Amino acid sequence: MNLMWFRNDLRVHDNLALLNAMSKGPCKALFMSTSTQWNKHDVGDIKIAFIENHVNELSDSLAQLGVHLDVIEADDFDGQIATLNRYCENHNVTQIFANGEPELNEVNRDVKVQQGDISFSLYESDVVVAKGTVRALHGEMFKVFTPFKKAWLRQASVQQYAPYGLPNAVGPSLSAQEQSTSKHIFTNNDSARKIASKWPLASQVRNQRLALFFEDKHDHYHDERDFPAKKGTSGLSAYLAIGVISVNEVMAQLLQHSPLIFNDMKNKDFAWLNELVWRDFYRHLQYHFPQLAKGECFQPRYEKLPWHNDQSNFDAWCDGNTGYPLVDAAMRQLNTTGWMHNRLRMVVASFLTKHLLIDWHWGERYFMQQLIDGDFSANNGGWQWAASTGCDAQPYFRVFNPIRQSERFDPDGEFIRMYLPELKNVPVKSLHFPHKYLE
Ligand code: FAD
Repeated sequence: MNLMWFRNDLRVHDNLALLNAMSKGPCKALFMSTSTQWNKHDVGDIKIAFIENHVNELSDSLAQLGVHLDVIEADDFDGQIATLNRYCENHNVTQIFANGEPELNEVNRDVKVQQGDISFSLYESDVVVAKGTVRALHGEMFKVFTPFKKAWLRQASVQQYAPYGLPNAVGPSLSAQEQSTSKHIFTNNDSARKIASKWPLASQVRNQRLALFFEDKHDHYHDERDFPAKKGTSGLSAYLAIGVISVNEVMAQLLQHSPLIFNDMKNKDFAWLNELVWRDFYRHLQYHFPQLAKGECFQPRYEKLPWHNDQSNFDAWCDGNTGYPLVDAAMRQLNTTGWMHNRLRMVVASFLTKHLLIDWHWGERYFMQQLIDGDFSANNGGWQWAASTGCDAQPYFRVFNPIRQSERFDPDGEFIRMYLPELKNVPVKSLHFPHKYLE
């Protein structure tokens, strides 16, 4: 019996591991919820609720292909290995299939599984260009983005992007009874579940939102992406973070829409692909520098910065009560929706580290606990970039001015008023400046 072990790849489309698992006869599928591990990695309840929704969707999709998804609770990564071994023994599993994950603990866990008795086939599907293949002249990983991007493009532009279709069914569709007795529940936090339920399921996004993005927004992305009051970005991050949509599939749609996209990286049309390159860049960094997952600064010389770490300033930042309207509106967007616009992530991260002088690890952790798209590589990369401990070609002297950013990117105060209704009557000329909010 083959086993497909789902982790951060909760999809039936374009899933190479699943395709292989199902091509060789009868197949079972397993997902392990790991509340202790999630807690250790600061995975927030909103993201857990989002995973929950997609595990239930996955279970239905697999049932139609004749595959039963077992969902089992395992404490942490060690618990996962023990649970996996027991499961394989009980179900006579002879081969396990999975898609790899780039983070250190996950890699170590997979190495241990590989050392076990059962054959374990791992595939790579979380990046556009394979990790470890984009290197500088002497074989080393790039430490800044632009040369990485140039080398990445040379490879990405000659690759084929033809997503794998649905696997052939291995048997008749399972009845509701055969499939599962009830829906799987991973969190009891009702408000988190309410927020996550506002995000459409991946099937809808694949069929509608993605196509609409390319039809309506992609070509204006360069001009609109920095304005948080506009819906100028794709909204795909949460789906990519848990692998319910594959980046390969996104690339295929992009090339269908813009077949010449690789021709000129200075062209405005390149702006959106540029963000996918950033995504790959941070994943490649994680692969080459696994110590990032241990909380280390990318630049060791910044390891001992004299942070102030004032708890009350941190609490004010978390609650959206610093008095700086754009910073506070952004934090309230995060706290109420589980998502924050990219421009604002940069503004609030710079504010925390360079105005309040609070250790970037505090912000990284708080983000992870709140974000629906929490993703270790992108979050760590974004925080280290903002704190200047990471891969920014303009390091410590890049400080975002929260007032100037507000005037530039929310000129009419539309976004600020959306999240700070207490400022709705403040005239725009003073809206961007620090305020004391009235109860
Ligand atoms: P779009 O603008 O439509 O971009 C398309 C896709 O590219 C995104 O869905 C995302 O997968 C990827 N992407 C875009 N920008 C970046 C970037 N700067 N770095 C890496 N990938 C990017 N992104 C996460 O997915 N998870 C995180 O935990 C995360 N934490 C961040 C923390 C900080 C401090 C900063 C500055 C950025 C962080 N980002 C993170 C990156 C970025 O803010 C989000 O990916 C983006 O806002 C998601 O919106 P979108 O899907 O509409 O993106």
